[in-house]
Amino acid sequence: MRLILLGAPGAGKGTIANLLMNEFSIPQISTGDILRSAVRQATEIGKKAEEYMKRGDLVPDTIIMGIMEDRLLQPDCQKGFILDGFPRTIPQADELKKIMARLDITQDIVVNLDVPEDEIIRRLTSRRTCSNPDCQAIYNVISMPPKKEGLCDICGSPLIQRDDETEEAIKNRLETYLEKTAPLIEFYRKEGNLFTVKALQSQTVFKEIVKKLKE
Ligand code: AMP
Repeated sequence: MRLILLGAPGAGKGTIANLLMNEFSIPQISTGDILRSAVRQATEIGKKAEEYMKRGDLVPDTIIMGIMEDRLLQPDCQKGFILDGFPRTIPQADELKKIMARLDITQDIVVNLDVPEDEIIRRLTSRRTCSNPDCQAIYNVISMPPKKEGLCDICGSPLIQRDDETEEAIKNRLETYLEKTAPLIEFYRKEGNLFTVKALQSQTVFKEIVKKLKE
């Protein structure tokens, strides 16, 4: 199964991708996670991407396409994959089509997670991430707080607010989303495999997607 998850930052793509990954035993490919790991390891890609990410800007398409070409060729993608946070621009979607044509595959469904903007801002400003790079569990101080304040339930490391989760960066990410990424909804609607779901509760969304996939 090959699935693309679309949605604004904070729409819950990561959470839903995780649930789908466990259900279908296929990898979740998050360009955001790949980039954050490159930044931590201070690789060439990480050094180039860091400033864009801190500001909440998109990393240039050429860097992203280099990452994705490599990733989609890995053996674990043969059974399928869940794309989380990619594509994020029309040129990326065009390039993805070309890569898939070369691999002789098509995507089964594009899921658009639809969340009102005020809810997105509330979610992003209350999000906390485990500072342990091997864990990176995500919490929400309002809806999913850790058992001990400020500490990860899984590994006990301190929880932090990501650099790109300051109010200014969040505003920029949302503007970037509206300008560059939201047009993908129309792009995939025209391709005929778009499934839009109101994304307020992750378990409900997950069940709706699974039901749709089984139709
Ligand atoms: P995310 O975790 O998906 O919200 O991504 C965090 C940041 O990584 C974004 O704000 C962008 O700076 C960068 N990023 C992730 N995926 C992409 C992409 N497909 N294209 C461009 N930049 C990306």
